[in-house]
Amino acid sequence: VPTLLDTLPALYRDLLPDFFGQELPVEEKATCANCAMCETNARGVVDSVDGKRRFFRPDTKCCTFHPRLPNYLVGALLADARPELAEGRRRVEEKVQRRVGATPQFLRPPPKYSLLYGNMHEAFGRASTLVCPYYEKDGGKCTVWAYREAVCSTWHCKYVAGDDGRKLWMEVKQFLMLAEMQLSRFALLELHPDFLLKGRDKQDPTRQPLRPEDLDDEPLPEREYRALWGKWAGREVELYRAAHEVVRGVSRAQLRELMGLDGLVELKVLDTLHAQATAPVLPAVLRFNPEATVKWLPDGSVALGCYSENDAVALPGEAYPLLVMFDGRAPVEEVRRRMREEKQADLGPEVLTVLHQHRILTEA
Ligand code: SF4
Ligand code: SF4
Repeated sequence: VPTLLDTLPALYRDLLPDFFGQELPVEEKATCANCAMCETNARGVVDSVDGKRRFFRPDTKCCTFHPRLPNYLVGALLADARPELAEGRRRVEEKVQRRVGATPQFLRPPPKYSLLYGNMHEAFGRASTLVCPYYEKDGGKCTVWAYREAVCSTWHCKYVAGDDGRKLWMEVKQFLMLAEMQLSRFALLELHPDFLLKGRDKQDPTRQPLRPEDLDDEPLPEREYRALWGKWAGREVELYRAAHEVVRGVSRAQLRELMGLDGLVELKVLDTLHAQATAPVLPAVLRFNPEATVKWLPDGSVALGCYSENDAVALPGEAYPLLVMFDGRAPVEEVRRRMREEKQADLGPEVLTVLHQHRILTEA
């Protein structure tokens, strides 16, 4: 059984707290090599439950996203000479050379991309304009996979533990984003303190109005670029590599210190969400969620969705009249007893747990 660490860049192996060494259910519903969100996938499990078509494009899948790579992960990629990463290194170097979105702390999306991304509607997975610059269309692969950042490491289109799984992964993302923020800043404190002392790490370029060069995907004016990079202007790759070296020297205890109280709180939340996702407790009283979407399939089975528009649970059609017996008044055991008496049928605890984790049955 894999652990969270197995899904993250190797650099984190000796850095992240013990929590990340725990076992984790395999997200087997997100079948990336044979993308579960693409219509071409014969399994067709994602056909929508509310009539809207929600498939992703096979030439983008869910990589309609431009990551924000922290300096030390960029450096780690550039220092990794494995031939299978050559294309990833080439793309990253090209992006650094273009000077669009390249800052000492992060290799960011261009401002125009961020504007589009923040204002899109139903375009995720469906607009080729948004495809990631590190995505290899031929073969549908990520060229920087071994060094992908917090969002790409944690996002799945569907979760085996339904909403409980989604919440757990979202929290893992929050924790990793905090680690990325602090580690990238820590590296700069040593290498390029001016960046921090002038508060440049606090500036959010996605909130600035777009200037002509942003709209034309051109680099920053030379003076501004030099002010941003200081003595590292023209030596950007060197800074990224040096940031990697600094982070390689950080210990687990040091990272804990860098993440401070926020990190401690996030860890406690992670513990709770991990328990919820891996050892769920069925509530005493359940109710069929009125917000659940219901779709009858040609084979007589029924697909039920709720917590996410990308996921649905399929049940035999006969199960539907049993579900509506959960009206939020009687305890689960009482409802099951009535099912057995009146319908000569039953829904066992395992099925009920899946339905609860997918919020098709909710706590009354
Ligand atoms: S996570 Fe992305 S690539 Fe993987 S199955 Fe889901 S949509 Fe497809
Ligand atoms: S970095 Fe990789 S996983 Fe993330 S969006 Fe780009 S291609 Fe996809």
